[in-house]
Amino acid sequence: MLVDTLIFLTTLTLMEGFAWWAHKYVMHGWGWGWHRSHHEPHAGWFEKNDLYALVFAGVAILLIWLGTNGMHPLEWVGAGMTGYGLLYFLVHDGLVHKRWPLRHVPRRGYLKRLYQAHRMHHAVDGKERCVSFGFLYAPSAEQLKRELRDLHGGPLRRTNEGVATTAQDAAARSHPERSKP
Ligand SMILES: [Zn+2]
Ligand SMILES: [Zn+2]
Repeated sequence: MLVDTLIFLTTLTLMEGFAWWAHKYVMHGWGWGWHRSHHEPHAGWFEKNDLYALVFAGVAILLIWLGTNGMHPLEWVGAGMTGYGLLYFLVHDGLVHKRWPLRHVPRRGYLKRLYQAHRMHHAVDGKERCVSFGFLYAPSAEQLKRELRDLHGGPLRRTNEGVATTAQDAAARSHPERSKP
């Protein structure tokens, strides 16, 4: 019982590291084809990015099935994955992206920090030079701003069409006709 609980909690914690890795190197790498939908405006509730949730849920179900069919304690690894998935679905999809009928914006404490950190992940258009790939472990907004400045060689500039990544990019977006050759 104690060991099972420990396995569950350890998996839950390690999932944050795995989620960071997968988000940075898979979703913003060769897996961008699915993840892109999460970084672009779209109509309808579903995103192609939701396929990742389906894949991870499939793995968790498989582990639980194997664990309850003789391969103990894999079911507790699967349960830890499921726990992380539920937290992610609640906080990332609900609190940050408002896919649930949830109007609350956290104004203080850990949830505010987490909310801001994930907003900063979405501050950059496209897959390159983004920050804050983890989720439950959230660096401060100040630290992420510093990282963004380092990555982009200066502060991000807001334009009418959103956020540009460099000064030239900002100029091109606010005056599209000027950037034409
Ligand atoms: Zn992303
Ligand atoms: Zn997001």
